[in-house]
Amino acid sequence: MAYQPIDLLDLDAQLTEEERQVRDAVRSFVEREAGPAVRDHFREGTFPMHLVPPMAALGIFGAPIEGYGCAGLGPIAHGLINRELERADSGFRSFTSVQSSLAMGAIHLHGSEEQRARYLPEMAAGRILGAFALTEAEHGSDPASMETRALKVSGGYEITGSKHWITNAGIAHVIIVWAKLDGTIRGFIVDTTLPGLHTHDIDNKLSMRMGVTSTIGLEGVVVPEECLLPGTKGLGSALACLNTARYGIIWGVTGAASDCLSQTLEYTKARHQFGKPLASFQLVQAKLADMATALSQAQLLAFQIGRLKEAGKLHWSHVSMAKYSNVRVALDIARTCRDLLGAAGITDDFSPLRHALNLETVSTYEGTQHMHQLMLGRHLTGFDAIS
Ligand SMILES: Cc1cc2nc3c(=O)[nH]c(=O)nc-3n(C[C@H](O)[C@H](O)[C@H](O)COP(=O)(O)OP(=O)(O)OC[C@H]3O[C@@H](n4cnc5c(N)ncnc54)[C@H](O)[C@@H]3O)c2cc1C
Repeated sequence: MAYQPIDLLDLDAQLTEEERQVRDAVRSFVEREAGPAVRDHFREGTFPMHLVPPMAALGIFGAPIEGYGCAGLGPIAHGLINRELERADSGFRSFTSVQSSLAMGAIHLHGSEEQRARYLPEMAAGRILGAFALTEAEHGSDPASMETRALKVSGGYEITGSKHWITNAGIAHVIIVWAKLDGTIRGFIVDTTLPGLHTHDIDNKLSMRMGVTSTIGLEGVVVPEECLLPGTKGLGSALACLNTARYGIIWGVTGAASDCLSQTLEYTKARHQFGKPLASFQLVQAKLADMATALSQAQLLAFQIGRLKEAGKLHWSHVSMAKYSNVRVALDIARTCRDLLGAAGITDDFSPLRHALNLETVSTYEGTQHMHQLMLGRHLTGFDAIS
């Protein structure tokens, strides 16, 4: 089915020429290469590694970073990349978020000039792949309680602990590992070939199947002195990277929802029951209208968050609000679209159930819905209901 982007508020008319070019380039990549790869890789539980070089050639990795071989794009263009990629599958946006906002972002935000010059151009070119390891099996929503430790040793640091649910870890060349050094959470650039580092891919996922998610064991891994990210000064340093990745999610999920609605509109117009198209029944139209309205509101929110970011006025509370709200809208749309497709909707001939399954992960990672509601609640009331 040909994809018909849903843009009832004509938000695309606000794009600059450069933003339009970025959107068209990524959309065309999705049409030609990314989209056709999804079904097999989702079934197999693998990421299409052959698409890393064309993604790098599009300037997708580290797109918002100025210099170091990166595209230096503005927030709206960055958002559009995420939207177009997630239209194909959340796995593409997730892979890109981790490479760009989390791994490259950590080096760019907190690294020394030498670290930036050494890693960022190679990562922008897709020759070095990165991961970001904050979560542990026993510490998900509460990463401040992490148990992974770094110990100062002669010439470097010895890291011991474990990480769980780490996107791209099994295919990464370097992992940003967050560990406590003298009680403070610090970030380290850890080469995955170092002795004592083991990854194990999680192969029983029902969500985000087109992507590699792994556990990491760190048994006395010794990293040289220059692998410590000097600017990291506690959990806030990790959260600063997550804020940029969450910005991508706010946009990305509108792409997934738009794809679901596009397919469902086509399907309900073409399929007949009781001698009439499904789309001609009032109950079906009410659902389609509600979804188009909710999607338009989510798109508007993404645009406004982008405008605030452009103006340097974006606060973490905006990101929390839009992350949980837009994911919730997209998940509701994906589930409703699945329903309107009937039995056909449970197959992978159509995208809504796959998007819904993926969005379950998107709702959980980078801060669960509860966590973002509680952070916004704390911001509004001054009372901390998290701990
Ligand atoms: C596919 C996938 C990829 C991931 N990739 C990465 C990655 O690359 N790097 C990384 O570091 N992590 C990654 N994660 C981990 C993710 O960030 C965590 O799963 C997330 O932070 C939630 O932690 P948890 O799963 O331990 O859930 P828990 O923290 O155990 O939460 C379970 C439930 O309890 C609720 N809850 C917890 N505390 C409270 C509270 N105080 N008040 C109310 N409700 C509460 C939560 O909202 C949730 O509903 C990934 C996860 C998945 C599924």
